[in-house]
Amino acid sequence: MLIVAHSPAASCEFEFVRWGLATVGMPVQSCGDGVFRVLAPDAAPDSFQGGLAVSFCDAMHAAPSSDSVERVTAESRLARWVIEKLSELPETPLSCPSEDPVAVAEITRAVYSAYEIDGGRMQLAGCSLEETPIVRVSFRRRAGPLNAIAAPPASRVRHVFLTPEGEAVDAVLLDQVHLERLDPLAPRPGRRLELDEPHLMAAAEVCLARDATGEQNGDATDGQPISLTLVWVKRAVGKLEVFLPADEEEPSLEVSFAAWAQPLAQGRVKPPPITCPTTGRATYRITRLPDGRLAAIEEADQCARTGKKMLRRELVECSATGNLLAPDEVAYCQATDAALDPAVLVTCPECGQAVSPRAIERGVCSVCGNLRNAKPDDAPLTEILDRHPTAAGWGSLRFAAGTHFYVVAGNRWLSRWRLVIDRESLEIRRLAKSGRLGGKWREHRPDHWSGRERSPTTPPAAID
Ligand SMILES: [Zn+2]
Repeated sequence: MLIVAHSPAASCEFEFVRWGLATVGMPVQSCGDGVFRVLAPDAAPDSFQGGLAVSFCDAMHAAPSSDSVERVTAESRLARWVIEKLSELPETPLSCPSEDPVAVAEITRAVYSAYEIDGGRMQLAGCSLEETPIVRVSFRRRAGPLNAIAAPPASRVRHVFLTPEGEAVDAVLLDQVHLERLDPLAPRPGRRLELDEPHLMAAAEVCLARDATGEQNGDATDGQPISLTLVWVKRAVGKLEVFLPADEEEPSLEVSFAAWAQPLAQGRVKPPPITCPTTGRATYRITRLPDGRLAAIEEADQCARTGKKMLRRELVECSATGNLLAPDEVAYCQATDAALDPAVLVTCPECGQAVSPRAIERGVCSVCGNLRNAKPDDAPLTEILDRHPTAAGWGSLRFAAGTHFYVVAGNRWLSRWRLVIDRESLEIRRLAKSGRLGGKWREHRPDHWSGRERSPTTPPAAID
């Protein structure tokens, strides 16, 4: 697997030289304006051909302020010196990505910030930074122009990353972890591995040649290996506990995670979402509902009347206002059965039933506005007249059905009558009359209306 490292901050060659100097124990000082200086070691003052120090800059980004500042390329004097010193190291140098987190605390901050625990808290119940080894094989290879400010370099530094066994590296690692900048890593037990370097070199050359076929400006098949380093990349493995409410003793939820530590700490990769135990939704935002259930905040809402927090899918939308209501706060239009906020119900002046404002047309509800001529033997009028026979004496009848009630309309003497019957029980909901020529509808008590009303226990009686 080949990585052509394009760090936005520095060229691959410069980063290689910077890493190489650090790896062979040469401290680098910054002199500002992109110029750095490295001092010859006390033990070998003639390292730089008599000079005590070398000033250098990145050939890609900085033009040298004077002839004495070396522009670092794969062929420059300092690069050649570093490559030679690296080859003299007695053991394979150890490295780590410069941007990898040092401590778990860096992970903790980033992980916590990914979640919103409404009214609760989150705690890291164990997190370890586990190191995974990969091998970087570096080559110097002829190449085309390097976005050069001055003359293009004759060759480039190229890196190939492999597993210690010479296999392809996890693609997610290469995609997520910045490997352009490496720092030397101190040896400790377990960090030295037995590496089959000839095998690794051969595998890396295969990767380099394969890449070269598709690379623009690349000429090259003649990569010259210049270094090999064992890179330990950190992986964060841990478990989060969610306590909701915050003073709960036992965790309400647990979330396990395992991810490359660097992108996790930098917030470029999120820890895994919580699976909402109530809705199954993957979420980073969790709350506890008043009924005790845990729920994704995205799935929760509150009743517009009481403010009670509930699952949105359990709230009922008012058909007139769009407000969401708890089911026990909902009223239903008696004419149409539309769900409503009780505050918006209106009373039909004719039948006296509570209906939706949308069911009112020309001053009356959709039932009263749709009375049709009916015969006494039409169903369900037959049954209604059997229970309430007085209405049979109203002459020509009209009838209409709403979702929850019927209206029977008729005339008697100088009055218009409306009998409102409950659809389910066939009991009288309201009896009203008004003048034949109009006027206000007045409620009439059914027990004053007729003794003929029939129920299973009362026999028919005379009309008033
Ligand atoms: Zn009505």
